[in-house]
Amino acid sequence: MRFIVQGLCLNYTTEELKEKINDLKKRLDVTVVAHFYQRDEVFEMGDITGDSLELAKKTMADDAEYVVFCGVAFMGQSVKVLSPEKRVLMPKLACCAMARMIDSMYYDDAVKAMEEQGIAKENILPITYINSNADVKAKVGKMGGMVCTSSNAKMIIEKALEEGKKILFVPDRCLGQNIAHMMGLKSAVIGEDEDLASADIICYNGFCSVHQLFSVDDVAFYRKKYPGIKIAVHPECDPSVCAVADFVGSTSQLIKYIADLDPEQKVAVGTEFNLVNRLRKKNTYVLSSTKPECPTMNETTLEDLYLTLKSIEDGEPINEIFIDEETRKWAKVALDRMLAL
Ligand code: SF4
Repeated sequence: MRFIVQGLCLNYTTEELKEKINDLKKRLDVTVVAHFYQRDEVFEMGDITGDSLELAKKTMADDAEYVVFCGVAFMGQSVKVLSPEKRVLMPKLACCAMARMIDSMYYDDAVKAMEEQGIAKENILPITYINSNADVKAKVGKMGGMVCTSSNAKMIIEKALEEGKKILFVPDRCLGQNIAHMMGLKSAVIGEDEDLASADIICYNGFCSVHQLFSVDDVAFYRKKYPGIKIAVHPECDPSVCAVADFVGSTSQLIKYIADLDPEQKVAVGTEFNLVNRLRKKNTYVLSSTKPECPTMNETTLEDLYLTLKSIEDGEPINEIFIDEETRKWAKVALDRMLAL
């Protein structure tokens, strides 16, 4: 494939573009960070790769002046929140569909819905999935709450429940419902369930459009086609799908689960396509009749990465992340509470 780099009138093959990116990386004080769901050719360019929690932690420990983050906006924001001295650029300012389902105004509405059911604000402990923008994390931090990821959500909720409060879980209703089910707790979804007051975990009605693609019918299809197959899914999948899976785990947990399987053991995986495609090639299937690609993760191209690095070299960095100090301060409080645990 050849890329025409607009404005520069250059014509590069994929390999030439990779060489140019590697060359810029050597000359600049920059670290390229890539999430597991990125396109293969972009993922290959990452100096730091991983899931959202790994990326936030590893990038914090890195000392390069510039971070070029190939992922979605909330991830770049998390780096800026935790390391404000770094200059964070994103080749594409792509926004996760789930993170876009809530903002600070909708967050306030969720708190109000709980108050209307007789739950006083001081008895609400909010937890936000890391897949949320900085303004929502700041609201949660201000109300005494914290962030969680899909790897540590159960542990974070267990800790939070020690305070004896009702949990407001935003924005992913599926993760909240799945964790509640795993812990034998009662969950309710704002806007769907009439009785919020009797639930332990009250979930905002957001979801991941990619993980909604996996269904119980897909599980039945694979179990019938390959008797003995294992079904492994991400907890952003619908609770009905998680209930019939053999394994439910975060991205890193799924990678480990599949790597530990006998090579002859067939497995169908319910998570983003680019990641599944990069796992072991033999006996691994995508748990869907469609291609479950995350459109926003796929927005970042090799060309975008090259242009972003070139903009640093040219002294005019593009797509830089800025967060106002008040939002950053409170979002950091929410993130730090999670990291401390
Ligand atoms: Fe957001 Fe879902 Fe894409 Fe992850 S896969 S970035 S949760 S839309």
